Amino acid sequence: MYKRILYLFLVFGFLLPAASGVQGRAVAYTATQQKDTVVYITKTGAKYHRTGCRYLSRSQIKTTKKEAVKNGYGACKVCGP
Ligand SMILES: [Zn+2]
Repeated sequence: MYKRILYLFLVFGFLLPAASGVQGRAVAYTATQQKDTVVYITKTGAKYHRTGCRYLSRSQIKTTKKEAVKNGYGACKVCGP
């Protein structure tokens, strides 16, 4: 019984690195897709917005979703970028 469990651990030990490699590529692919999504941040706010959002009436600074997230901005709840 224990030998069987040990065997399973060994098998998964070999399989998991391969599986996580696939997952890593999937994440990288998603990040690539998001890279060029244009969003707008404001001078004072902590959220990023889609163009036309009412919060952008005072200032709007063009950036990408990736950059905004990287800089700690969150998604606006009104326009949902
Ligand atoms: Zn907004």
